[in-house]
Amino acid sequence: MNICTHIKQLKPYQAGKPTSDLARELGLENIVKLASNERPKPISSNIEQAIIRQLREVNRYPDNNGFALKVALSKHLSNDKIQVNNEQLILGNGSSNILELAAKSCLCQATDEVVFSEYAFMLYGLITQSLGVKAVVVPSKNYGHDLTAMLATITDKTRLIFIANPNNPSGTFLRDADILAFLQQVPNTIMVVLDEAYVEYVSNYQTLHFLNKFPNLLITRTFSKAYGLAGLRVGYGIANPELIDYLNRIRAPFNVNTLAEVAAVAALKDQMSLLETIALNTKGMAQFTQAFAAMSLESIPSNANFISVKTGNTNKVYNDLLALGFIVRPIEIPEFIRISIGTKNENDGVIAALKQVLKND
Ligand SMILES: *Cc1c(COP(=O)(O)O)cnc(C)c1O
Repeated sequence: MNICTHIKQLKPYQAGKPTSDLARELGLENIVKLASNERPKPISSNIEQAIIRQLREVNRYPDNNGFALKVALSKHLSNDKIQVNNEQLILGNGSSNILELAAKSCLCQATDEVVFSEYAFMLYGLITQSLGVKAVVVPSKNYGHDLTAMLATITDKTRLIFIANPNNPSGTFLRDADILAFLQQVPNTIMVVLDEAYVEYVSNYQTLHFLNKFPNLLITRTFSKAYGLAGLRVGYGIANPELIDYLNRIRAPFNVNTLAEVAAVAALKDQMSLLETIALNTKGMAQFTQAFAAMSLESIPSNANFISVKTGNTNKVYNDLLALGFIVRPIEIPEFIRISIGTKNENDGVIAALKQVLKND
């Protein structure tokens, strides 16, 4: 059987360690997972009720066009300056699904090039390699995107550029004005994917109106992070109708399940929960930055719901924290681990555990 060489060389996506795995390994009950940038608080009862109401109908296929969610999203995203309609939206099994569709749609030959930053979202490299095309990884600047250097790598083979904003795993953030200046210099034959998985955590940032000017722009967002629906897998892409139409052609049928769709509609209505999530995150972020400063640990100023901190010896620190029941995330940035912001208790716990682990060094 023939398996493509570029597939054989792939390494699977490294997800954050599931709580159940560690529970099994250690026989521990109280495990704190701060590894996947999930929302620390569970969904509100409105969302739970919406899911329960829909449960009896899982004998039926989902709405393949996700009409209800598209209508809710159009309403949510539109205002007096910006109009987003259903034809500009595509739904995905998480926004990772949309990232994949984007790549599939524009990468045709092995010589095609995909540009993304060092220390950006791990999935960009994985998707690129899975399609057997060439990754152009641009060295980061202060752990974030160096847009000038990224522009300089563009050749006549460049087909796709991925940008995560805020970036994961560094939490660095590009202002919308910088994104605009960047888009103005990218040839419009190149697709630009602006991955805004953490957009709910930033303010004074508006990129949707760029879509009118740049038909090569695709913005992706998700319900997995601030909205707290990571386990249901639902995200979306916003772009001009022509690009959306192409993505729709390669999308797997029924890629968003019924429960995910109703939960996402309910989550959009529950802006109160979202505000609480953001407020909790702001407090937690302050808790971590203060603690790290007190411990003389360098951390990267983050605009999302996680923070990366320089502990050195990351394998040992990661494993020692596991042994204490705390799951964090080893990342590509040397000597740094990434910690998702949790509840106050979870944050206190991991900070105390980290102190203990570093003292034993
Ligand atoms: C978490 C994350 C995503 C997507 O997650 P989904 O659950 O697939 O929506 C996309 N991009 C970045 C940068 C992320 O951190």
